[in-house]
Amino acid sequence: MTNIDDLPVRDELRGKSPYGAPQLDVPVRLNTNENPYPLPDALVERIAERVREAARDLNRYPDRDAVELRTELARYLTRTAGHRVALGNVWAANGSNEVIQQLLQTFGGPGRTAIGFEPSYSMHGLIARGTGTGWISGPRHDDFTIDVAAATEAIAANRPDVVFITTPNNPTGNAVSAETVLALYEAAQAAKAATAGAIVVVDEAYVEFSHGDSLLPLIEGRPNLVVSRTMSKAFGAAGLRLGYLAADPAVVDAVQLVRLPYHLSAVTQATALAALEHTDTLLGYVEQLKAERDRLVTELRATGYEVTDSDANFVQFGRFADAHAVWRQILDRGVLVRDNGVPGWLRVSAGTPAENDAFLDAVRELKKEQS
Ligand code: PMP
Repeated sequence: MTNIDDLPVRDELRGKSPYGAPQLDVPVRLNTNENPYPLPDALVERIAERVREAARDLNRYPDRDAVELRTELARYLTRTAGHRVALGNVWAANGSNEVIQQLLQTFGGPGRTAIGFEPSYSMHGLIARGTGTGWISGPRHDDFTIDVAAATEAIAANRPDVVFITTPNNPTGNAVSAETVLALYEAAQAAKAATAGAIVVVDEAYVEFSHGDSLLPLIEGRPNLVVSRTMSKAFGAAGLRLGYLAADPAVVDAVQLVRLPYHLSAVTQATALAALEHTDTLLGYVEQLKAERDRLVTELRATGYEVTDSDANFVQFGRFADAHAVWRQILDRGVLVRDNGVPGWLRVSAGTPAENDAFLDAVRELKKEQS
C-alpha cells in the first residue's frame, strides 16, 4: 500500500497532520463553534429563490469581483461596526480560511514569516505552512491575554511579514483591546521599516458575540491593517463557506493577484446575498447565544471550574490534570466538546439552551464524582 511518505510531498508537510476537529455522531455537538440554530424557513425560501435565479446563468462564469455581494457586506459592516466601509474596502472568499490563505500568499510565502500569539486559531500556522511561510509562535500571559512587552520583543527580534491577532481569541475566548492591537501594529511597522512594513491581520471571526466593539475603525489611515470576518458564526452559515475582509483598497487590489479566477461560485454569492437580507433575524440569534454563553460562564464557575472570560460563542474551562481524559468522560455522557491541546483546558461552544443544559449536567456530574 502506498503511504503518504512514499509520495514526493514537500519537505515541510512531511509527518504533519491535517486540521481535524472530530466530526462524531453524538447527541450534543458543542465542539466547532458553530451556530446551533438552523436557518429560519423564510431565509431557506429566499436562498432557494436566489439560487434558482442564479442557476439559469450557470453556463456563464460568476461575477469575478462579486460586486453586489461585497457592496452588501460593506453595508453590513458600516451599519454594525461604526465605521464607513465601501465596496473597495471589502474582499470576499470561501470562508475566512481562504481569506487568510490569500493574505499569506500575497504578503507571506517562501523566505517570509508570520507570527501568532498562541494558543490561538491553529489554522493561522497551518495555512502559513501550506503557503511556504515560516511560522513563529509568539507568547501570551498565563491568563491567556497577550503579553504586549514580550509580543513586541518577539516582533522586533523576528521581524515578521504578517502578524495575526485573533479577537475574540479562539480557543481561549478573550478579546484584545485596541491599545494592544495598535502597540503590535506600531512594533510590526517599526521592525519592517526598511521595507514596506508588515501586514497585521485582526481575525474577528467571533466579534459579533463580543461585549465590546469591532476594531474595524482602526483600518482608517493604517493601510497595513486588515480585519477578517466570516459568515460561519454569527450568520449561522458555516456550510455556506463565506469569509471576507475589510482593509485599505490597496490590500483588496493586492489579494486579487493570487485569487483564483471566479473563486466565489454564483451559488455561493446568491446564498450569501439571501442571508444578508435576513441580517436582523440572524443577529437576534446572536443575542440569545450571548446570553447562553454568559450562563455557561456563570454556571461553570458556580460548579467550581475555572473559566476564561469569554467574548465569543464558546467558553474555555478547566483546569484538569488530564484534559483529554475529561474530554472523553464528557463524550461518554453524549456531549462532544473540544480538546484544543491547551494543557489543562477544554472548550465548549454555546449551543441551544437544551444542549447547554445537557453539557452542564454532564460536568456537574463529573465534579460530584471527583469530590
Ligand atoms: N478564524 C477563526 C479565529 C476561527 O475560529 C475560524 C473557524 N473556526 C476561522 C477563522 C475560519 O472560519 P471560516 O473559514 O469558516 O470562515
